[in-house]
Amino acid sequence: MKKNLFGLTVEALGEMLSPLQVPAFRAKQIAAWLYQRGASSFAEMTNLPKQLRAALDEKFTISTARQKAALHSADGKTSKFLLEFADGTAVESVLMRQPYGNSICISTQAGCNMGCAFCASTLHGMARDLTAGEMLAQVLFIERFLSQENGKVDTMVLMGSGEPLMNYDQVLSFLHLVHAPYVLGMSYRSITLSTSGIVPRIYALAEEGIPISLSISLHAPEDALRSRLMPINRKYPLAEVVAAGKAYGDKTKRRVTYEYILIDGVNDSLEQARLLARLLRGQLASVNLIPINPVVERHLLRPSQQRVEAFEQCLDAHHIAVTVRREMGADINAACGQLRNRHLPQAHDVR
Ligand code: SF4
Repeated sequence: MKKNLFGLTVEALGEMLSPLQVPAFRAKQIAAWLYQRGASSFAEMTNLPKQLRAALDEKFTISTARQKAALHSADGKTSKFLLEFADGTAVESVLMRQPYGNSICISTQAGCNMGCAFCASTLHGMARDLTAGEMLAQVLFIERFLSQENGKVDTMVLMGSGEPLMNYDQVLSFLHLVHAPYVLGMSYRSITLSTSGIVPRIYALAEEGIPISLSISLHAPEDALRSRLMPINRKYPLAEVVAAGKAYGDKTKRRVTYEYILIDGVNDSLEQARLLARLLRGQLASVNLIPINPVVERHLLRPSQQRVEAFEQCLDAHHIAVTVRREMGADINAACGQLRNRHLPQAHDVR
């Protein structure tokens, strides 16, 4: 089987090319074609000798992602893409045109097996981990989409389907790649990784020396409820998750964001707001409140605006930095997993 060159670093490309006995600068040229000029075939690489192009074509392939479906919100601010890889696996990637620039949300696994009660991505389990190249393919697909309007990707969150810290090595390789000057040269500070709270890997990430922002999904201020909403809490309970978040902030000097999906009548009372404030007291952290995108098949509903504001004000009164996420793309179901589910053959009942 031909090896896929897309997703390799310059160094790895150099190693792949070594049996062909070509000068080292050829690896850099190929990387530029792959990552900056969007080549999808070796024939396009016109600054390589013809013979080399033929030899590459014989041994290797360039496999990225192709668009299987796309939805664009009526206000033009949000676009959601279903991107398919060579083996037919598909994932969602989302573009959000924010006031501060173009933000994208990419997937790190196809589906997810973390089982969060409010999440459409987990309804059919996890198909497989994505490779670093498949994560990069999502970014470059949207970068190219934006280039048609002279735009570019400004910030990125790893918050699509999948638990990034359960695919740690590939995610780390991807972060190094997207940061490399011959790919996008994206600043680590423009990247946020979102986790359901895989405690040992939060500590490991803090030691990597890459100053990305960390966002931790909390969604409940006490263990019994969090275990119901997020089964991973049985393995890594709240106190351990918050301690790991604090350690990450202390080590990287980056403020940790705690995500809190507000679900009507489940986790949105004032008493729960007070418990949350107590849990995070004294930490360099902020809370991002997200009124839930209803998951119809799980009967989880969005609280009233009044309840959202009361929860926010309660945190504020307890000196916890808090924001409420602006709703974007509700008309195209921007919550993760919903577009993909619609395209799974066994999932015609999921919308
Ligand atoms: S919220 Fe994230 S970790 Fe939880 S099931 Fe969905 S994709 Fe997985």
